[in-house]
Amino acid sequence: MRKQTYKDPLIVGVTGGIGSGQSTVCKFFEEWKCKVINADAKAKEAIQRNRQLQYELKKTFGSDIFNKNGKLNTSLLAEKAFRNELETLKLNQLVHPRMVANLIDEMEQARFSGRYPLIVIDAALIYEISIEKMFDAIVVVNAPMPLRRQRVRERDGMSAKQFKERVEKQIPLEEKVKWADYVIENDGTLDELRQSTKKVYDALMRKTRSKKRN
Ligand code: ADP
Repeated sequence: MRKQTYKDPLIVGVTGGIGSGQSTVCKFFEEWKCKVINADAKAKEAIQRNRQLQYELKKTFGSDIFNKNGKLNTSLLAEKAFRNELETLKLNQLVHPRMVANLIDEMEQARFSGRYPLIVIDAALIYEISIEKMFDAIVVVNAPMPLRRQRVRERDGMSAKQFKERVEKQIPLEEKVKWADYVIENDGTLDELRQSTKKVYDALMRKTRSKKRN
């Protein structure tokens, strides 16, 4: 039997706010044979592989952010970069362009392989770093704040104070919901989340097929 190939997959961004369920939704997409690319992993990869970026990070934050073997000390970098807004901006301006370049590279490889009907980018900061135009569709995973707080506490042991600080750095989820093409409400069980995600997946698959006919 000949394998089906997908010449023109839909590029889908999945985003949300901390604890809203974005990673869980992306796991479902992965189970359904979509290519899922994680933006944070691409940022880490950029720092590990790009010598020029390493050089610029050392100049900005000090050479002690890398140990003798050249391995990044992530907690020290985080401590220095999240000290204040200006330092955070410096880190983002160095890392984000390289992260986006790596995302595009992997996206193109997945597109070229013809193996995937949908290519999903798992990225918390789509709107914060203004890359929304990269996507054919954006899915926002929404959940009430108390549930988000509780889920993150159970997931990472994060305190209410740490959670509040993280939330304040992100664009309010209500805003992202307004801009989204699809919203997945995650205020029920994991099984309900799977079902709501499946509906969005089916809608995206219909869009991919109609794109193919055009
Ligand atoms: P995000 O990636 O948006 O920060 P996650 O997908 O990691 O959020 O979800 C946060 C935590 O809550 C995870 O431990 C996840 O397993 C759990 N979780 C997410 N949605 C539900 C749900 N509907 N019911 C129970 N637990 C959930």
